[in-house]
Amino acid sequence: MKFLGVIFLSFFFGITLAQPNKKVDFLTLHAQVTPNFETKSITGNCTFTFDVKQPVDTIKIDAKNMDFYSLYLNEKSVQFQNNKKQLVLYEGFAIGRNILKFTYEATPKQALYFVGNNENFQIWTQGQGKYTSHWLPSFDDVNEKLIFSTDVVCRTDYTALSNGVLQSKTLNSKGSHYTWSYAMTKPMSSYLVMLAIGKYDKKEGISKNKIPLEWYIEPIDSSKFETTYCYSQKMFDYLNKKIGVKYPWQVYRQVPVRDFVYAGMENTTATIFAREYVVDNMGYNDQNYINVNAHELAHQWFGDLITATEGKHHWLQEGFATYYALMAEKNIFGEDHYYSSLYNNWLKIRTASSRDTIPILNEKASSLSFYQKGAWALHALKEDIGERKFDKAVKKYLKKYAFQNVKTDDFLNEIKKVAPRYDVLSFQKKWLENGKFDSIYNPYLKKWKQYKYLEMVRASSTWQNNQKDSLYIALLQDKNIHAVVKQAILSKFINTNFTEKEKFLRAAFTDKNILVQKAIVRAISNYPLDFQPIIDSLFENSSYDIKKDMLNNIIMSDEQKKQKLATSEIYSHKDSMLRVTWLRLALQLHYKPEQTLEFNKELNELTSANHDIYTRLSAFWSLNLLAPENKEALANLFLATQHYNWQLNGDVRQLVRSYFQNEAQRNIVLEFQKTASPEVQEIIQKYYENWLSKSKK
Ligand SMILES: [Zn+2]
Repeated sequence: MKFLGVIFLSFFFGITLAQPNKKVDFLTLHAQVTPNFETKSITGNCTFTFDVKQPVDTIKIDAKNMDFYSLYLNEKSVQFQNNKKQLVLYEGFAIGRNILKFTYEATPKQALYFVGNNENFQIWTQGQGKYTSHWLPSFDDVNEKLIFSTDVVCRTDYTALSNGVLQSKTLNSKGSHYTWSYAMTKPMSSYLVMLAIGKYDKKEGISKNKIPLEWYIEPIDSSKFETTYCYSQKMFDYLNKKIGVKYPWQVYRQVPVRDFVYAGMENTTATIFAREYVVDNMGYNDQNYINVNAHELAHQWFGDLITATEGKHHWLQEGFATYYALMAEKNIFGEDHYYSSLYNNWLKIRTASSRDTIPILNEKASSLSFYQKGAWALHALKEDIGERKFDKAVKKYLKKYAFQNVKTDDFLNEIKKVAPRYDVLSFQKKWLENGKFDSIYNPYLKKWKQYKYLEMVRASSTWQNNQKDSLYIALLQDKNIHAVVKQAILSKFINTNFTEKEKFLRAAFTDKNILVQKAIVRAISNYPLDFQPIIDSLFENSSYDIKKDMLNNIIMSDEQKKQKLATSEIYSHKDSMLRVTWLRLALQLHYKPEQTLEFNKELNELTSANHDIYTRLSAFWSLNLLAPENKEALANLFLATQHYNWQLNGDVRQLVRSYFQNEAQRNIVLEFQKTASPEVQEIIQKYYENWLSKSKK
């Protein structure tokens, strides 16, 4: 049929334009991988197919610190080079289709992470920036897209996940391991390849347009399923419709992992996210998964289907994902939520703009620029040309560049087509090439009803007191006024004395919105004690963060704090961070002195690798680690210096180094070394020698 041919022509034309010098085109990689938890290593068999289009001397595949065996090119054993960064082929290939097979082995220092212990471990990957080649021979260049299929071998009591549809799950002859075979049908960049292994339960759904949806959760977290994944399906259906191009892949699954390095990662068809977002109904009020969920989903189009050619155009991924996540939230929570998020982001960008001056179109731009300012640029563009035209341009842009790579001009050219009279160049200059973003008034917010109240609150600083007061009271009591306005008012009272602000607090009490409640808790840091029961009754059970703030409240007497410990004891077990705060206070105040040893032991245990990094950090800071009763925590501290996650290792390494600076502390550590485990002894020795060599200089 004729029109099919036309479509094909334009498709290949697009590729040729994007990569004019491409002499070799990699098409597929089929890999069978076996990660080994005990040795923290991975072995695999790879089969690549590629086309040589023009004569070339060498062909390179990125492969960091790997060893290769049994390498066959077109079924012949050939010579190759391994420079530990790349596998370099220089013989045995010919113009046309080629097939390369080999076995490899690697012990990655990054990109493939092993978490937990032998009885309950997780293995997962993080490919972005350009890290997949640390565990899988692949391509650091995002412009090289290929179709991946991955077989993962793992113990039968674990679930293995990768990109694409699960084709089969076969038991080995010993009955000890399954091979999970996953396959994609469309090409993608290597940084989007994923692997996750763990003990998971799975729930399934199906989208309106019949895409299978899979949600994974650890059995221990099963009661948190609804509060974690709420709105998943609704957001999926919404984005499919709003973006206007059908979800481009065959399945969509999401899986939380422990000690993840980011909030979430949009691996194609298989998003990984941090277990910190697995929450119950109180944790939901502190940190829920909804925005991250929508953001990673939006990336399945913006990033995975079309991928920026280089870092300079990174906003085409992050700005779009941030924008469409806001749109998905708007669909659930309404206009005020959408605009208040934009407003808060605008404040952040404006505050940062004096030092953060690198414009969006620059690979060195901050994440605030790529994400929030990028989303702002899209919102402004939509307001300028109208939502209908904006949506139309996005749809055409996605269709035209599907499974390819894009530059900012590719998007702007589609805008020009739908809005020929619009001054795209001045949009580009103002939003993408300008590092400044500092105007006090924002015309793009004026459509939003609440913005005039925010403007009033801002202007009120020059008003008479009685005028101001009646405005604030009226706004705080009005249930149609959004939390962001009430936050702005309450934030003015953080440092004023209680009698001055009591009437405002009481006015705000009528609002049960969690954001208003949190703003109240922040503003009431100094209140008379007879106010305590009112506050308790209002907020106690709405959020773990509020509970923590309450426990930490500095103005309470010790007796009152003990009372608080008693009333919150049962609750404290539900959230490990809250539990740390509770235990620290219990030890400090000698609450239930007969249980001191027990409490101390529990707090020591909370520093271990059984817990998430934030809990561990707060447990470390809650203990005097050099005290004789805290040896377990001290050992965990040294082990934590070896952890891959910079949020954990940065702080603990600094603390350890400080011990060596101080003679008394150093001696305690060296004494401790004598009885520590061999692994800990070795770490201490390294720090000690490091200190010795530095102190000699
Ligand atoms: Zn993102």
